[in-house]
Amino acid sequence: MAVSAACSIARVKHATRPFTALSLALALFVTGQASPAAAQPAGTTALPSPETFFGHVMGADRKLENWDRLLAYYQTLAKTSNRMKLVELGKSSEGRPFIALFISSPGNLAKLDTFRQMNARLADPRGLSEAEAKTLARDAKAVTIQSFALHSSEVAASQTAAEFVYDSLTRNDEESQRMLDNVISIVLPSINPDGTQMIADWYMKYVGTPNEAAGLPWLYQKYAGHDNNRDGFALNLVESQHIAKLMYRDWLPQAYMDHHQMGSGNARLSIPPYAEPIRPDGDPIVWREIAWWGGHMGTKLEAAGKTGVIGNAIYSGWGHMGFHWITPFHNIAGMLAESASARLATPMFMHPDQLRGGPRNLPTYEPQVNMPSPWPGGWWRVRDIVEQQKIVAWSVVDLAARNRETVLYNMYLKGTRQTERGRTGKVKAYAIAADQHDPLTVKKLANMLLDSGVEVHQAKASFVAEGRFYGPGSFVVTMAQPKQGLVRWMLGRTFYPDNSYTRDAEGNPIRPYDMATDTFGEFMGVRSDPVGEPIKADLVKLTAKIAMNGAVAAAAPSGYVLDGRLNDAYRAVNLLLDKGIAVKRAAAATADGKVRAGDFLVAAGDVAPIAKQTGVDFAALSGPMPANAYEIRKPRIAMFQRYGGGNMDEGWTRLLFEQFGVTSKPLMDAEIKAGGLEAKYDVIVLPADSVAAMTGERPAGGGGGRGGGGEGGPGGSDNTPAEFKSGFGAEGAKAPQTFVQKGGTLVTFGQAGDLPIQRFPLPLRNVVAGLASKEFWSPGSTLRVRFDNTLPLAYGMPANGLALFLAGSQVYEVTSTEVSQDVEVLATYAERDLLESGWLLGEGVIAKKAAAVSVKHGAGRVVLLGFRAQNRAQTHGTFKLVFNALLNGPPVAR
Ligand SMILES: [Zn+2]
Repeated sequence: MAVSAACSIARVKHATRPFTALSLALALFVTGQASPAAAQPAGTTALPSPETFFGHVMGADRKLENWDRLLAYYQTLAKTSNRMKLVELGKSSEGRPFIALFISSPGNLAKLDTFRQMNARLADPRGLSEAEAKTLARDAKAVTIQSFALHSSEVAASQTAAEFVYDSLTRNDEESQRMLDNVISIVLPSINPDGTQMIADWYMKYVGTPNEAAGLPWLYQKYAGHDNNRDGFALNLVESQHIAKLMYRDWLPQAYMDHHQMGSGNARLSIPPYAEPIRPDGDPIVWREIAWWGGHMGTKLEAAGKTGVIGNAIYSGWGHMGFHWITPFHNIAGMLAESASARLATPMFMHPDQLRGGPRNLPTYEPQVNMPSPWPGGWWRVRDIVEQQKIVAWSVVDLAARNRETVLYNMYLKGTRQTERGRTGKVKAYAIAADQHDPLTVKKLANMLLDSGVEVHQAKASFVAEGRFYGPGSFVVTMAQPKQGLVRWMLGRTFYPDNSYTRDAEGNPIRPYDMATDTFGEFMGVRSDPVGEPIKADLVKLTAKIAMNGAVAAAAPSGYVLDGRLNDAYRAVNLLLDKGIAVKRAAAATADGKVRAGDFLVAAGDVAPIAKQTGVDFAALSGPMPANAYEIRKPRIAMFQRYGGGNMDEGWTRLLFEQFGVTSKPLMDAEIKAGGLEAKYDVIVLPADSVAAMTGERPAGGGGGRGGGGEGGPGGSDNTPAEFKSGFGAEGAKAPQTFVQKGGTLVTFGQAGDLPIQRFPLPLRNVVAGLASKEFWSPGSTLRVRFDNTLPLAYGMPANGLALFLAGSQVYEVTSTEVSQDVEVLATYAERDLLESGWLLGEGVIAKKAAAVSVKHGAGRVVLLGFRAQNRAQTHGTFKLVFNALLNGPPVAR
């Protein structure tokens, strides 16, 4: 999961290698010549091997096949083999087919839907007797899902998949027959087809040149880059939505495996189980199964003479809530394998001196229980990775085949026991009031839970639970369901363990793999209350996602008012402005209280389609248009983009903008260096990034997006082609300052605040800069803040809320009394008990300090959002701070 950086730069068009009809025909012809039908195993006719089809073995030195060609291969296999069904689950972010391959015996494939239903019954065994479960386990088929090529720069897996699939379709030995009879093996040959295309095209373009194996300069997933597996619960990416339907709702496999690559400096392959700490509250069987599968893999790998294989190391069980780490809470044995990387597809030589210990249970590079046969060093090639991955992938299906009834019955046990734990546990349910600060975002949370296959109920009438009142339409998520572990982590407070597994020998905290919490309800600014008693209410089980249909007042002679507390009101405003409909904003509440400061006002126009599209109500304005209402102009926005692998925070912000109808242009080095930005833009956004990465004064590394890590990538040899070198330079940094001085608004996220603070400069100090981790520490946590929602930049925010604090986030203190009147504090950390979820050391350092500020500078302003107000397009609770910063405020007398 390591490797280079992240996000996507502009939409740079890269040359693709189209797989033409002619080349397909040629390949088939060659296949026919090389593999006469008579030599094919029974049940198949003339299946071309990858070697025949592509003209080389998978993982051959300096060869990478792109998605177009891999897809053509799978389509060819699907046409000929009766052991595989190719299903297109939808399109990728850039419109490529996103496919799943269902591999099993022809008889099983003919009854796929029957087996799907049997499997689903075992996964949600409520009401199922033990005897019925045993019968189902006897008759059903084990299901495995394996994902290849999630992280596109980890290039081997996309190539391995072709060979693994071919073997599955053509092997006829006892092991493979057992697999076909007992297992429905679902292969996702690329979870990120766009990236598989980009990386292969990029690499092949430069093979044999001095730029061979340079990292891709932009994000390998349109929005998320390497963060594409940090989306397993929020499901912001279409790819994640396809997987959620396949894995969380339709198929609920017994095992899920992600094939990744890591750095090159220690083990050759990391296999299950995970190391400490684990995230509790999954069914214990799931952790035993993960170790069981890992044992099977390790044994098969050693039997095949593979060295340098390690388990129970490097990757802790408490990770991010991406697919392999979230699946244990869906009662699925969710696993990852991480092979050592080469340099993309270029071989690399590792001298024995370069092999060292690694994080978590590999103190020195010596034989030990979890790595009995260290790799001695030498050449390391993509083909080596392909061979490892094939054994791992085969072990996944082989264990399921040999133990079909056991793993199926375990599904019943896990589901039954988790449901019972939820029924008898301290928290019986989470109640989510419908009428919260932003009711549309409440509905979005309910929809996200439904997408994840969680059972959600809605109350037809009001009810009271533990003395709290819940209005009609409120939601109840019972813990008496198989996925209660997932519910607990999405909705319940989370405290990252602080113990000997999470501190080093000197007592310094060890950074969590990703964030210290993934409490999605908190990220969304939605309150969910743990309820310790059975809820008595008139509840309806939701069977479909909640539609958001805004109402338009029938008679609105004075115009309409839109609730400024709704995130989607901003989307409606953007759509209105795009249609040329004038929008105003109230600068103060009206006497009757029907309009709040920050509400949006529309005099007239064709608003019905926008109400329907956004879910926002257009209520009738009860009085005349308030005199203090000011016109909202459509802002001209640019967001900084760079190379160096791209910046994931930029990509996610771009996705957020698309989701909410914000129009923004990419702003790259050349345009910055040319200056004159004030003539073209009203707002410039700097996503979280270091100053060095922006200016290029030091090479960019990974971008501002990583919440954690420690696994290390193969590293960036800086042989990037000159046209993709990045950085606007120290001189270039003056352009944003001029832009602000002449009236523009500069918005910075997290550590990007350093640019204006240091280079303009601004009268601010980041109070957490340079502190030792023992003094202050808060990696990916939700912290309590107060918002000054009387200020236009915090309009629509609640008075109290949560800020997502990441490593690199900033906290501000004013340093100069001469200009302190120019600083406006939008958000302030609470006085004490700051931690809602995650991990926080040294809260006194930031208590009562500014979390977000606006600073006048010349005729313009800089808005510094010190925490991650839009992290991964997940923190709905603070999106409005971003949106407000993009809009003009009331006219100011200068
Ligand atoms: Zn990876």
